[in-house]
Amino acid sequence: MNMARQKKRCLIIGDPVEHSLSPRMHNAGYHALAIDDQFLFERQRVSREELRHFIASLRSSTIRGAACTMPHKESLLKFVDYVDPIAARIGAINTLVCEDGLLKGYNTDWLGVVNPLKDKTPLKGKKILILGAGGAARAAIVGLIESGAEVTITNRTADKAIALSQQFAIEVLPWELRSNLQDWDIFVNTTSLGMHPDESETPLPRAKFRAEQIVFETIYFPRETLLLKTARAAGCKTIEGLEMLLHQGLAQFEIFTGHEAPVEAMRIALLHNPD
Ligand code: NAP
Repeated sequence: MNMARQKKRCLIIGDPVEHSLSPRMHNAGYHALAIDDQFLFERQRVSREELRHFIASLRSSTIRGAACTMPHKESLLKFVDYVDPIAARIGAINTLVCEDGLLKGYNTDWLGVVNPLKDKTPLKGKKILILGAGGAARAAIVGLIESGAEVTITNRTADKAIALSQQFAIEVLPWELRSNLQDWDIFVNTTSLGMHPDESETPLPRAKFRAEQIVFETIYFPRETLLLKTARAAGCKTIEGLEMLLHQGLAQFEIFTGHEAPVEAMRIALLHNPD
């Protein structure tokens, strides 16, 4: 019998998904734990229009689970049989698990923000400014509130920031005032400002950081954004977007396999990505 068929398959689904680093990261984890004879992680392009059909096929398949990326994170809420409370609060699913034909939805993006930050500093009582008001911001808000931080949001489109501030009972700062950096212990960039190919952009132009401040970036292409360069030059601790990708992936790994994730093997797989 074909060994590949006996393996429990996990997927990353999205559109586009061709450049996803998740297969590389998860397969490196299987290899490090010598469970690569049991698990295999693959990418599968699933368009918006194909999602309903994909979900139906998943129920009758032997697939263990799926990591989910754009544009499906919000739409999946209506397709699953169980939604984890924190995923419901964030309003998005990034992890699907199939058990006996039942589909369960989880969200690990918030752990991608909170765990690397907790490695640098306790979060309780910290004053944190979140830049942006999209999906990554929602995960960051929920995770940081859970961790006891004092969260403020700012966004180019004020209405979106105001809506989130009302939903989560957090403060809102007008976008025009974001460059006054004095008030914050930690900055979390969840805007796409600075992402390839617009690498000369930054959400905090003219920023004058203090060395004791921490800057968290969600963008991972490029690895070192202008925001991170500026913060490092001022002596700040910084966390790059690949750490968020890693930490949300570590939690997915544990959900899919039941094994503790091999952190360094999975980190190396991301850092030494030849693509
Ligand atoms: P999203 O829902 O589309 O939100 C994008 C955000 O960026 C919005 O707040 C938007 O502001 C802001 N923005 C875009 N262009 C801007 C501009 N020119 N000036 C000011 N603000 C601008 O996207 P998302 O899913 O939250 O993703 C946001 C970022 O997080 C992306 O860079 C993504 O790669 C990254 N991310 C990383 C990971 C990881 O694992 N590292 C995971 C998820 C996401 P408006 O509301 O005004 O449009």
